Amino acid sequence: MDQERIYLDHAATTPPAEEVIEAMLPFLREEWGNPSSPHARGRNARTAVDDARDRIAAVLGCAAREVIFTAGGTEADNLALRGAVARWGDERGRHLVVSAIEHEGVLATAHALVDQAGCELTEVGCDSQGRVDPAAVAAAVRDDTVLVSLMVANNEIGTQQEVSTATRLVRERNPHTLVHSDAVQALGRIPVGLDRLGVDLLSVSAHKCYGPKGIGALLARWGAHPRAQVEGGGQERGRRSGTENVAAIAGFAVAAELVVCEQAAEMPRQAALRDALEALVIGALAAVRVASGSAARLPNVSAMLVDGASTEALIAALDIAGVEVSGGSACASGAVRDSHVLRAIGEDPRATALIRCSLGRGTTQEEVRRAAASIVAVVGRAVRAPAGARP
Ligand code: PLP
Repeated sequence: MDQERIYLDHAATTPPAEEVIEAMLPFLREEWGNPSSPHARGRNARTAVDDARDRIAAVLGCAAREVIFTAGGTEADNLALRGAVARWGDERGRHLVVSAIEHEGVLATAHALVDQAGCELTEVGCDSQGRVDPAAVAAAVRDDTVLVSLMVANNEIGTQQEVSTATRLVRERNPHTLVHSDAVQALGRIPVGLDRLGVDLLSVSAHKCYGPKGIGALLARWGAHPRAQVEGGGQERGRRSGTENVAAIAGFAVAAELVVCEQAAEMPRQAALRDALEALVIGALAAVRVASGSAARLPNVSAMLVDGASTEALIAALDIAGVEVSGGSACASGAVRDSHVLRAIGEDPRATALIRCSLGRGTTQEEVRRAAASIVAVVGRAVRAPAGARP
């Protein structure tokens, strides 16, 4: 890949850290045993998984037994919602409350539970800045609400939610309702943890914080365990079967430690670069607005709105110019979705384009300056061009 290209899509995925790759290699080359095997090779693999679990628990402020490894954030979200309904639905009820701007891992699962498991669903909207009112979340809770899901920070526009306040209010309303939070974008960017947020269930994913893809975890407060959704050999204390991905788990632990350790220094640096990027673009183009600009938001995310332009056309033109950004959330096909988040903040995704720039630990001042110049050129052409013309 051309090193001159500028990667500003860290909310989609992050480059694995060198330390992460080094930590993974022994488990691919020499220590490739099955952690469930009774011999020395198996025991070595088991020790690696146990060690990684301890380290992730320490970073996220929970007990090791509260960490359930999954194949990423989507599976963690599924396990939280499906597992809570399967475990507690008969006893506590089948009503779910989610915010309207959750990631599809939560939203699509909640809708599937309505179709497949007799659940009722209340979606709580947000304001024009993407803020979900904690009081509105609590007000939606009923006597039969089994679970509330409110993400820590949004993946498309970066808005942070007041998860601990919402959790407190939900508990006052119904102490039996479980609270889940998707912290996939937040880990390493803002402080998160089971205790810190007071939630019962928390989803995290390694590839958003310089770890490998296909590994994540659901943190589940002891006593609030969801029912397993993957049955088999009973790994992860029977909560998620399947031979553990030892190398990925080892890499995840190193990634989580590094990203949380550097957070205090790195986030102000990225926020300053993000602010500089926005100032350069907005200073040059009156047509650009910043989504969620007056709310608390992730320090590394800038979601710029351009009226009268097409998201796909802008992203493609920026790609040709060597700047890798995204239009919010991508479909598996790589196409840009008609964003439910833009709709929730009162924008029309067919009339307004979204350019999401998400910075990372490797982003430099020089890259921000060059990216801003490209965005100004591409967007400037698009807003001057007649409708339907290429930017
Ligand atoms: N939740 C949020 C907020 C995300 O941004 C993502 C990924 O984009 C996910 C969940 C899914 O995580 P994974 O890619 O590990 O399945």
